[in-house]
Amino acid sequence: MKLTRREMLKCAAASSAIMALNGSLPMLKGAMAAEAAEPDKWVKSVCRFCGTGCGVMVGVKGGKVVTVKGDPNNHNQGFLCLKGALMPPIVYAKERVTKPYIRKNGQLQVASWDEAMDLVVSKFKTALKDHGPTSIAYYGSGQALTEETYLASKMWKAGFRSNNVEGNPRLCMASAVGGYVTSFGKDEPCGCYDDIDAATCFFIIGSNMSECHPVLFKRVAARKQADPNVKIIVVDPRRTNTARIADEHVSFVPGTDLAILNAMAYVIIQEELDSPRFYNKYVNFMTNDKKKVDFDAYVKFLEDYTPEKVEKISGVSADQIRKIAIMFASASGTMSFWCMGLNQRIRGVWANNLVTNLHLLTGQIGKPGATNFSLTGQPNACGGVRDTGGLCHLLPAGRLIKKPAHRAQLEKQWGLKPGTIAPKPGLHTIALWNAFSEGKIKAMFVLCTNPAHSLPNVNMYTEGMERKDNFMVLSEPFMDAETVKYCDVLLPPAFWCEKRGVYGCSERRYSLLMQSVEPMGECKSDIDILLDFGRRMGIDPKVIPFETVDDVWNEWREVSSTTPYNFMGITRARQEKESGIRWPCPTEDHPGTKRRYVRGEDPNIPKDYKNKYKFYGTKDNRARLWMRPYAPAAEEPDQEYPMVLTTGRVIDHWHTGTMTMKVPELRRSFPKAYVEVNVDDAKQHGIKNGDNVELVTRRDKMVFQAKVSDVCRPGLVFVPWYDKDLMINKLTLNAFDKGSKQPEYKICAVRIAKV
Ligand code: SF4
Repeated sequence: MKLTRREMLKCAAASSAIMALNGSLPMLKGAMAAEAAEPDKWVKSVCRFCGTGCGVMVGVKGGKVVTVKGDPNNHNQGFLCLKGALMPPIVYAKERVTKPYIRKNGQLQVASWDEAMDLVVSKFKTALKDHGPTSIAYYGSGQALTEETYLASKMWKAGFRSNNVEGNPRLCMASAVGGYVTSFGKDEPCGCYDDIDAATCFFIIGSNMSECHPVLFKRVAARKQADPNVKIIVVDPRRTNTARIADEHVSFVPGTDLAILNAMAYVIIQEELDSPRFYNKYVNFMTNDKKKVDFDAYVKFLEDYTPEKVEKISGVSADQIRKIAIMFASASGTMSFWCMGLNQRIRGVWANNLVTNLHLLTGQIGKPGATNFSLTGQPNACGGVRDTGGLCHLLPAGRLIKKPAHRAQLEKQWGLKPGTIAPKPGLHTIALWNAFSEGKIKAMFVLCTNPAHSLPNVNMYTEGMERKDNFMVLSEPFMDAETVKYCDVLLPPAFWCEKRGVYGCSERRYSLLMQSVEPMGECKSDIDILLDFGRRMGIDPKVIPFETVDDVWNEWREVSSTTPYNFMGITRARQEKESGIRWPCPTEDHPGTKRRYVRGEDPNIPKDYKNKYKFYGTKDNRARLWMRPYAPAAEEPDQEYPMVLTTGRVIDHWHTGTMTMKVPELRRSFPKAYVEVNVDDAKQHGIKNGDNVELVTRRDKMVFQAKVSDVCRPGLVFVPWYDKDLMINKLTLNAFDKGSKQPEYKICAVRIAKV
């Protein structure tokens, strides 16, 4: 099927912007002229945007990307949403950085690669000599390739002995990591996308899946369409497009979802819908201060969360709490999804635990259609940063810096002297940027991310980026990204289909992006940039014994092979042939794993193991059900700031908009950030659709155009965060979860007024 641009846009509008593209998509704008021409070749790749990780086929003609279509063999079965379908023009955007630049007298000026790298190296060497390894840092991305993050993390931790390795996944996924690790002893989801096709109840909380993970949501919607008995529960203070197809939309006072989740557990036990057969064998009940207790203690803990008590704080009726608890527990298979709405919170880890509790209490886990599934925001936050250990406290494949045995294992596998890896974890993202602002971090390497737009309370950090006594090198494909304003050296990286490597999406599926075209201008892959940097810095050659990205991949496979991650079977040859493989995958003839912790599916469990499930991340192979109390948000509304501000994404834009704002069709549909105001609040403040409204928080103020609707509940306003001219992160809060260190973007107090 081939669509004209007009047909495609009509189709998108008609389907609430969920697009089914089984055939090739004509390239938009400049390449429309090439619409009639068939590509010379199709090259296998992955979408550059969300953590759904859709497979794409890149159409190349005359050495240029001219079109894309969904990969029919990957999990998305040929479907792409509008963002994915419109990627090609981004490659050739006029804002592409195609040469290195050095800032001189406040202006970025073109330089040669040697000049740029010499300056970078001299700054890092001076920092190391004068202030030691803790004065340098790497800040990476859930959009970098797996090999890139693995390499950077190894260079810093083993080469420079600096554990200051962080990245933007700290801002979106850290609480999910904390949730999985505290509940199961291991990170990453247990189930897979195939579970959608078997589930009979979907519990979606803290996720606007229809806009943020459209192709997955399409699969959920198709499941409901095929079987009207399938139930959808959406827990969200906004009535989003996701909520509009729900059987039950639970709108609640922002921040009280922890109480609702505990109340659901209360009802499940009261209604005898719990599964003692499951939890008596596979679960430990844990107090908040890590003491093992019995089931009765858990029941006592839940007495504070009767539906009637929780109704008073959450605004959700006791009847509705009862109803959704019964739906969750009595379905033949319940699949829960969550994303930033739970993660970007000062109680993010607890919120994650409480969703998992419901699965452990009811045994809704480890069966087709029954699983607890955290959605990932970025295409490679899982496969790149979480799995390879690209955070300040991690080492590859779930190992921890603070554990001597883990450091020793890595040092041995890497062929390095014992004691090479420093024993103290580095600085987490907020602490790192605080240290940069205070001049304690002297040299920072930023790769594939836009912190001057994406950090919360961002004015604090851009002021720090302006200091004269610290240094930032930035590898960034687009000249108009906000962080470019602050960097001292700008390097031109190859973008998406101009390089080769792996993305690992939300379901532990690793798919290869094959190089489709040559990099533009003087661009180089980030692997080549990092290797060049490492060699010029004089890193021990044993740390970087690589010539190609495939060498890095092969070492990563080896490093994983002694852990339950185990990618040994995911060879390059297989990746080229197959469209994504789910780990663990220990051997070349292993098909990959759909469900972890299940005997007969997970290769880490012996076939003759006595029980059906083995939660092998914990010492006694039992998962943990945590007694996490409800606690208020970091900044509650008060007289001065009486409303709640929340932020998020819209379907047509991705993150800081540096890519999607370059596609005319996407830019036109959402050209400017706006504030969503509930009709009742609008009436009270005399605000009409299109009026200018000032938002004031304790950090800054800004004016947005109003969209008056019933989407937000009264007392709540929403602003999308993609717009660099209206950066809502100047107003958001940088308080963070004590465990995961993830900031509370989703809730802060705000005052609004018509201006
Ligand atoms: Fe890309 Fe996500 Fe859309 Fe799939 S759903 S095409 S991964 S943006």
